[in-house]
Amino acid sequence: MTDKTIAFIGAGNMATSIMGGLIEHGWPKDRIFASCRTEESARKRSDELGIHTSTSNLKAAAKAAIVVLAVKPQMMRSVLTELAPALQKQKPFIISVAAGIRLKSLDDWSGGGLPIVRSMPNTPSLLHCGATGLFANTRVNDALKATANEIFEPIGILQWLEREEQVDTITALSGSGPAYFFLFMEAMTEAGVKLGLDHETAERFSLQTALGAANMAVQSDVDAAELRRRVTSPGGTTEQALKTFRQEGFEEVVYKAVKAAKDRGAELA
Ligand code: NAD
Repeated sequence: MTDKTIAFIGAGNMATSIMGGLIEHGWPKDRIFASCRTEESARKRSDELGIHTSTSNLKAAAKAAIVVLAVKPQMMRSVLTELAPALQKQKPFIISVAAGIRLKSLDDWSGGGLPIVRSMPNTPSLLHCGATGLFANTRVNDALKATANEIFEPIGILQWLEREEQVDTITALSGSGPAYFFLFMEAMTEAGVKLGLDHETAERFSLQTALGAANMAVQSDVDAAELRRRVTSPGGTTEQALKTFRQEGFEEVVYKAVKAAKDRGAELA
């Protein structure tokens, strides 16, 4: 795609992290537009990032070849309906980051017929170690997919999905997933405290262990199951803990939790 003019509708956390990634990777700042709710936030964003900002969604989107929809899901219908006549004239490439809003709704609300990608990034994108699942409608060609890659690669890993329903699984897995790992860290900390450590020490060691294990799993040539086997000596302490997890149905609980998140996503859509 040659025209790199990109507009972010809504300039909150997710939009800001994507814009930050784009700028770091050399996207021309004067080709980035964003809409903000107030004059104050518009000024702040423009000072921080050196981009064009406006308090009008229509103005921000006016010349864009790519429009990234980054308002909260409940705002999406009204925002898109307002933009629809302009979008129908301009025919930009639309990318939504909104959780749970289906392509069919995005297509309907934007007036129909536009190339649209529905994406699902997650919170660690703010630190540029996110995970984004993407699904495109049939109007998105390879060149537009390459543009979407350019937009999301700076904030983490990405994967194109084969079916839209998989976006809901990604939402339940990596979208909500950081909270599952936070819960595990909390529970580990609590266990350490119950077993004799002060809270600060227990927390520090739980978090560092999570970080170390995640780094090992990401960097290793072997999968997590093999890494687990390698640190589990027969008859040792780790084996005893893992046996207890299994006996108490740990895997089943994780499956049920992820499925519950996916089912809830379907109810909300
Ligand atoms: P946020 O509240 O930080 O950002 C939303 C922004 O939209 C705010 O700056 C708000 O002022 C602005 N806004 C509200 N109404 C508007 C309007 N009518 N016109 C223009 N701007 C308006 O929220 P966020 O976390 O950045 O989430 C934005 C989108 O990203 C959501 O749809 C969410 O589902 C999606 N998302 C976020 C995350 C995450 O980790 N934060 C992960 C996946 C998807």
